[in-house]
This record gives sequence, C-alpha cells and structure tokens, in this order.
Amino acid sequence: MSIITIRNLVVFARHGVFEEEARMGQKFTITAELEVDTTRSARNDDLELSVDYGRVCTKITEYENDPKNRVKLIETAATRLAEYLLLTEPLVKAAKVTLQKPWAPIGLPLDYASVTVERKWVKAVISLGSNLGDSAELLRIAEEKLSECEGIRMGKCSSLYRTSPYGVTEQPDFLNACLTFDTFLEPEELLEFMQEIEAECGRERKEHWGPRTLDLDLLFYGDRVIRTERLVVPHPQIAKRMFVMEPLKEIDPYLPHPLTGKTVEEMWEELKEKEQQGLTEGMILEKLSTPKDKA
Ligand code: ATP
Ligand code: MG
Ligand code: MG
Repeated sequence: MSIITIRNLVVFARHGVFEEEARMGQKFTITAELEVDTTRSARNDDLELSVDYGRVCTKITEYENDPKNRVKLIETAATRLAEYLLLTEPLVKAAKVTLQKPWAPIGLPLDYASVTVERKWVKAVISLGSNLGDSAELLRIAEEKLSECEGIRMGKCSSLYRTSPYGVTEQPDFLNACLTFDTFLEPEELLEFMQEIEAECGRERKEHWGPRTLDLDLLFYGDRVIRTERLVVPHPQIAKRMFVMEPLKEIDPYLPHPLTGKTVEEMWEELKEKEQQGLTEGMILEKLSTPKDKA
C-alpha cells in the first residue's frame, strides 16, 4: 500500500455550532492521507489505474462548499469526509482526514483547532442463526438490511444449513449461515447495527441460547482483537461450533484466526475430529442452498 497525501487544502465551509458560522461560513484546511494500492499504476505509469489527486482536491472542495454537508462538530465533518472519499474513490482503502479550523470563534488567539479521523474498509465476518418464525425469510431479510447500509459492501454468503440446537436442546432446529463483507463501520457501530436488525426481526432476549428469530454474531473484524463488556472479537465460541465453522469454511477457508494463526480450514478439521467424540455444538443436519458471491 502507498499513501497519497493532500496537504493543507484550503476550503470554504459552514461547519460550527453557532448560527453565524452556518450563515457566514469560514475557511477550513484539510489534509487527507489516502491509502491506495499503487502497484499497477506505478508499474504502468497510468493515472487511470490510480487515484487522481487533482480530482480528489476538486471533490473535497465541492463537498465542503455544499451547504447540505454542513455539520456542527469538526469530528463529524472529518468523519463524513473520510467516508465520502471511501465511498466515491474505489481504490482508496483507508482515508485519514485532518480538518483544521483556523478561525474557531473562541475569542482567544490560537493557530487553529483540529481533529484527525481515520476510516478504512475492513473485512468483517458474521454468523446468522434463526429457529423461530420463517427462519429462511428472516435470514434473507437480515442479509438485505446489511447490504442496504452505505458503509457495508457485501462479499460472500454461505449456503444455508439446518443444524441441531445446543445448550437448550428442547427447541426447534436452527437455520445458520455465514457472510463476509467490507465495512467502514467501527466494530461497536457494526454491533449496534446488527442488534437493530435483530430487534427489527422480532428478537427478544429471554433465555441465553434459547429459541430466537434472529441471532447475528460478529465473528471477525479484520485481524482486530477486541475485549470489551459489549463486544468480544474474534467470537470466543467459534472453534467449538460446527454450525459456524462449516458455513465459514465454505466461503473463507484460508482466513487466519488473529490469535492462534490457524486458518478456518485447520480449525474445521480439528472440530471434525472432536465431532466424533460428541464434543461440538450444533451439528449440521442438512445443506439447503448454495453459496453466493455478492461482491
Ligand atoms: P453466543 O454469543 O454464545 O452465540 P448469543 O448469540 O445467544 O450467545 P446474544 O444474546 O445474542 O448471545 O448476545 C449477548 C451479548 O453478547 C450482546 O448483548 C453483545 O453485547 C455481546 N457480544 C459480545 N461479543 C459479541 C460478538 N462478537 N457478536 C455479537 N454479540 C457479542
Ligand atoms: Mg450467538
Ligand atoms: Mg448473539
């Protein structure tokens, strides 16, 4: 990866919490550091294969000039601009935007106030499960809702599997699948979005591991290791669960686990051995459809 930098582009915009700032506008200075794969453009000396920084400067200027894009906070402005660059420049993998406000109206002499924000496309892997209601339809709706999010670009979707329940075994069979996508949502934002979809699909949290209309779990978020109260990634249970490993192996066999370095395929093989000893969760009963490439 290479970095294309646009340093201190001066633009006119209306960001700020005060009404005069919206009305009068003011000068802002923008630095954008764009992570781009320049291997092909450099080898062929071809602008078409690269990110044209002239075009990007014009784009930033127009975006910032547009009163519709006015926001109150400089961090919001920088985040929106970084996301706009990720969405409109397909070769940009990460965008780090620094926004400086030289005329910040605080009544004290300062050079500027500034904020730096980085947004990047990261590959996320999630598992889907349902054993209440029209499960196949609920999984389809979940996938559709994810794909409609601006910050998500669908990758692969596994086949649908019918699996046996685990934990609380006196409940209907599950339908399970896994899917991959690129996203610039931060992990907590992604979890929140997934929980919104669960709620829209009628999920009620009564009994842990009990029957549910929809369960969306974040298995991997790039190679990030996260341990917070709300989010543990990679998902700690995957290596025990056939209903996760089987669909995952189908769409991403060479994905390495960031903590152990084992690939999905290696984890699946280890699990297959344990399956004979009855030490796994959620056996595969039936494969119901074929995998799809949504990219
Ligand atoms: P399991 O996580 O063992 O599959 P579950 O999916 O039934 O159990 P939920 O009721 O869906 O559990 O979620 C309980 C909590 O788990 C959520 O409120 C969420 O904050 C937390 N959580 C932690 N890590 C993750 C993750 N990687 N993906 C989804 N939820 C997570
Ligand atoms: Mg779960
Ligand atoms: Mg869950």
